[in-house]
Amino acid sequence: MITGVRAIVLERQGEPLAPAALPDPVPGPGQLLLRVRACAVCRTDLHLRDGEIAATKLPVVLGHQIVGMTEDGRRVGVPWLGWTDGECRYCRSGRENLCERAVFTGRDIDGGFAELTVAHERFCFALPEGLSDEQAAPLLCGGLIGYRALRMTGNGERLGLYGFGSAAHMICQVAAFEGRRVFAFTRAGDQRTQNFARSLGAEWAGDSGTAPPEELDAAIIFAPVGELVPAALKVLARGGVVVCAGIHMSDIPSFPYADLWLERSIRSVANLTRKDGEELLALAPRVPVRMSVTTYPLERTEDSIADLRAGRFEGTAVVLP
Ligand SMILES: [Zn+2]
Ligand SMILES: [Zn+2]
Repeated sequence: MITGVRAIVLERQGEPLAPAALPDPVPGPGQLLLRVRACAVCRTDLHLRDGEIAATKLPVVLGHQIVGMTEDGRRVGVPWLGWTDGECRYCRSGRENLCERAVFTGRDIDGGFAELTVAHERFCFALPEGLSDEQAAPLLCGGLIGYRALRMTGNGERLGLYGFGSAAHMICQVAAFEGRRVFAFTRAGDQRTQNFARSLGAEWAGDSGTAPPEELDAAIIFAPVGELVPAALKVLARGGVVVCAGIHMSDIPSFPYADLWLERSIRSVANLTRKDGEELLALAPRVPVRMSVTTYPLERTEDSIADLRAGRFEGTAVVLP
């Protein structure tokens, strides 16, 4: 008989996640012991699994969109930003997302694809009632990075979303709620996802290689495809911005300076601040955001990542221990 905490572990990058029985995690100073209720799957988990971004510790329990219960019965959300030093020049200027000593959940410390985990209490969010575990979990990274990216687009009315997965399907609803016009771009011929985008408030959906019916004021790129950056730039109005929201992207091809001219810009967004989280968790129930969720039992975490890689579900995957 196997005893210990049921967990799914990445032993070596490029190899499948495998079940393991781990010793009970012991909370350190300032940490909470959490019983995991749900953990959503993020593309970053896929990049770590596949070795597209470097692992910082192995073996590691992936998963950084955790809904958990504390020992005293509070339901909390654990995001990607697991800890910051609070004292570097970034932390002291309201940019803890850029902290050079930041520790990330499910990469530097074990994450949520397990029955039990620990998390620094300062970085856990109280979750609003009325938001189920499955609905709350995908907000904790996909939702948050989408929200931060949306804020980086300013007040642009015509918003393009490139790559219509977990983050985009959530932020499409928020953008429509805010009165923006959403134009969704998918892989060529992906009618199913284009229909999905329209059902969530996109006024237009089409292939990423095609031009939208109007110029865009802003575009957010969620797909890890560098070619999309000059493609988005080409359909941007004067003064528009392309926001790259992924942690990993293939190289960006060169493009004529004329495409950037007239105050167009390209920027990335990284991680989250706790302020982003508080704002989104207050806003989501007002929209209300409805996440399209496919659930997997803990033992099928590897399958959930394979299905994400293959685009086999719309919206987001959530692992239930
Ligand atoms: Zn993530
Ligand atoms: Zn710092």
